[in-house]
Amino acid sequence: MTIPRRSFLHEVAGALSLPALSQAIQATSSPYRRPKLKITDIRTAEIALHGHQTHVRIYTDQDITGQGEATDAAVGAAALLRSFRPMLLGQDPLNVEALWERIRTAGIFAGAQGGQYVTALSGMEIALWDVAGKALGLPIYQLLGGKVRDRVRMYCDSSIRDPLGKETDDKAAWVAQHGFTAVKIDIDEARDPARFDRVNWTASNREIDHMVQKVRRVREALDPKIDLAADLHGRYDMTTGKRVAIELEPFRLLWLEEPAPPENIDALRDIRQATKTPICCGENLFLRHGFREVLEKRAADILMPDIQKCGGLLEARKIADMAHTYYVPVAPHCVVSPVGTMASCHVCAAVPNFLVLEWHWIDSHDFWKEFVQEGEIIREGFTTIPDRPGIGVEMNEAAARRKQIPGTPWFVSGEKI
Ligand code: MG
Repeated sequence: MTIPRRSFLHEVAGALSLPALSQAIQATSSPYRRPKLKITDIRTAEIALHGHQTHVRIYTDQDITGQGEATDAAVGAAALLRSFRPMLLGQDPLNVEALWERIRTAGIFAGAQGGQYVTALSGMEIALWDVAGKALGLPIYQLLGGKVRDRVRMYCDSSIRDPLGKETDDKAAWVAQHGFTAVKIDIDEARDPARFDRVNWTASNREIDHMVQKVRRVREALDPKIDLAADLHGRYDMTTGKRVAIELEPFRLLWLEEPAPPENIDALRDIRQATKTPICCGENLFLRHGFREVLEKRAADILMPDIQKCGGLLEARKIADMAHTYYVPVAPHCVVSPVGTMASCHVCAAVPNFLVLEWHWIDSHDFWKEFVQEGEIIREGFTTIPDRPGIGVEMNEAAARRKQIPGTPWFVSGEKI
């Protein structure tokens, strides 16, 4: 059978028409001429350092692997991440927001408003950004709008157990020697001999005196150029929070952290209105929704989202942007490894209203320096953001495994667990 020449040419021209060609390219390629990526697996490893930390890896069909980290509310995160697996397999990892939103909304009846669900989601989201950066050849800050600063100011959580003892002088000297410009101490004390009740957290006069003595002792040991923040860990009632904030006014703290439990934003607002001491909160809030009321009620001077817990990098950027419209700075909470810390630094580099980022490794600094192949990432109290694709640091597995939680899998495929 012969095909009329005119009809044959018409069909070939149709197949090669510009719309058809464009459709074929769209179906198989990214705008960067790479065949579309597909997620092939998500795996976890669990580490005990400052609490429970879940490291997340997302694998693709093109040998690009992304890493993320979740913390604090991370017990059970590995099981949740396995439950996310069917919603990730075969998907394009570059559509970070779509994947995040799809999994978040799928969990409305499973606790996706906060807690472990959002913490697990945070670790997954950070790993997706690492994949996206590596696939596109860009550092993550570039995907978050570009950087407004080259290096990120860190503060040292001093982990001083007895602020009235010699440890304070040793830690103050260490902090100055390492170039930190801000320090945080804990002033809540469950074992204070002046406590009358193991359950009720109304502080006695002597307890409050002890808190003031601790702040005075550390303040006097530190170089006056170094800022000082104090943490109450959301333990005390509103009256105590208010009294402590007022008593500490002469010390001009960088902030007083969680002077009351995080659930009642009105109580926090009442404390803030009663004092000149700046009030900081947010490490136990989740998603933009958790921070909205704090901003609307003017309940805090500084927000401290935990980026490995509050929803991830883009969610933290959105929280920071909301705060910026109220002229409120952000000082993210951060107790994770150099992998998660550097991921947080990409957000801190990208948002205008960043104040300072936490560093919590003074007592395990040698392990910190070993944890990533790049070694120490903090110089003179600042972290310089690398221009390498993705997060820009890679885990040193031999070191990290020393803190693996016994009995937990180490990046084993979900199919095999
Ligand atoms: Mg805290």
